[in-house]
Amino acid sequence: MNLFENSRQVTVLGAGMVGVSCALALQSKGWRVTLIDRRAPGEETSSGNAGVLSRSSLLPFNRPGFLQSLPSLLLNSGPSLQVRASALAQWQWMWRFLWHSKHSSFEVTTRALDALIQLSSATHKAWTAQASSHMYLQHRWRDTGWLWLYPHETAFAGSAFSREILKEFSVATEVLNANELQMLEPHLAPIFSHAIWIKDAASVDNPGAVVKAYAQEFVRAGGEIRIDEAKAISQQPVGWQWRNQDGKVHWAPNLVVAMGPWSETLLKDSQLPSTLKVHMGFERGYHRHFKPAPGVGLDRPIYDMASAYVLSPMQNDQGESMFRLTTGIELADRDSKPNLNQLENAENAVRRVLALKETMENSNWLGSRPTTPDSRPVIGEMPNCPGLWLAFGHQHIGFSTGPGTGVLLSELMSGEATSIDPHPFKPERF
Ligand SMILES: Cc1cc2nc3c(=O)[nH]c(=O)nc-3n(C[C@H](O)[C@H](O)[C@H](O)COP(=O)(O)OP(=O)(O)OC[C@H]3O[C@@H](n4cnc5c(N)ncnc54)[C@H](O)[C@@H]3O)c2cc1C
Repeated sequence: MNLFENSRQVTVLGAGMVGVSCALALQSKGWRVTLIDRRAPGEETSSGNAGVLSRSSLLPFNRPGFLQSLPSLLLNSGPSLQVRASALAQWQWMWRFLWHSKHSSFEVTTRALDALIQLSSATHKAWTAQASSHMYLQHRWRDTGWLWLYPHETAFAGSAFSREILKEFSVATEVLNANELQMLEPHLAPIFSHAIWIKDAASVDNPGAVVKAYAQEFVRAGGEIRIDEAKAISQQPVGWQWRNQDGKVHWAPNLVVAMGPWSETLLKDSQLPSTLKVHMGFERGYHRHFKPAPGVGLDRPIYDMASAYVLSPMQNDQGESMFRLTTGIELADRDSKPNLNQLENAENAVRRVLALKETMENSNWLGSRPTTPDSRPVIGEMPNCPGLWLAFGHQHIGFSTGPGTGVLLSELMSGEATSIDPHPFKPERF
């Protein structure tokens, strides 16, 4: 075995936005990369999301004030958060998540996420340009920002803390009154008194197609993608072994675990020489698609703050225009049965805001936002496991922050200076 030759060989497990981004970034640094997924690239969480890429996402859900608002959130069981009984299995994650809403943790998280978002945004732009030049990707990127909508003065006043933080980070925003909002998005019903236009934001019209285009770029440049399911991993005298569903074993000098909401399960099911335990919460969310009524459109996604849904103008795989409605958070076991309650409420609310035609057939979807206790993804080498690298836990923003994750991981694995501070993301912080 030629160790020198093997040292820049890696297998990436998981081909969502994060895994594909790791594969592309490592490949660009001369690594020989094999990408493994049980499905084709970009068919799970990275396809079903709202397609928003925004600097405002530096604000995690667990922020100062979260603990105080929790009783009313739970009592109202409102649209932004619904907690199911099966979520109790995640109690160890839950109390840590609450604990990290304190100021000191929030400050580290917002700074870290801002750096990751900005690195990701630049990388996305470079990669979409590259993929477009090879005709894998067209008309996917909109630099029109997104809108946070408020029904009345009191609701808008509740956004004061977010506005203060966005100002501190110099995120470009503009507060709009009802008339200004109407001029920007004339098809919205005139029921919102205020809006915040987050201008430092972009969106895409088909997130799954973007992941697939990046995966095509990876293959075009010589990368290999294989359909297979990883069941466990184990350390070898040299490198790592992973076992598939048929018990067949594969060896790799280096492994990256980038399986989104399934990453924690793989680590639990493997015998590893590390005491590290990453607690993961599953912030589930639903989507449903609608045909637009004739002549009705939006130039950017909207986030209705009172009803906690996002509505994004999108295209399906056949190129037809449609709207994707995504819901707030449902805390539940990752694999428990869907409960369409939140989705039905969001549909009732959105139909009061925009003229939509019928629901598109079979368009209900459920995914899990994989969230660590401090809302920061895990990016780095597993302690006591040289050659085993982790890239998961991207909560609400993994579609946007996958590329920055790939760049950072590839720099760490190549022993180079990093573009952003890696410490807030290191696995050993847990
Ligand atoms: C409703 C909703 C709306 C969202 N909106 C946004 C948004 O607007 N902007 C944004 O940036 N983010 C958004 N997100 C979050 C974002 O979608 C996720 O953070 C992101 O997709 C996670 O990417 P990933 O690559 O880590 O996971 P995934 O995309 O889930 O990829 C994991 C991959 O691992 C594979 N896999 C799993 N188990 C195995 C196995 N045993 N063997 C082999 N392969 C395996 C899966 O098939 C999958 O392809 C949203 C999420 C939800 C649920």
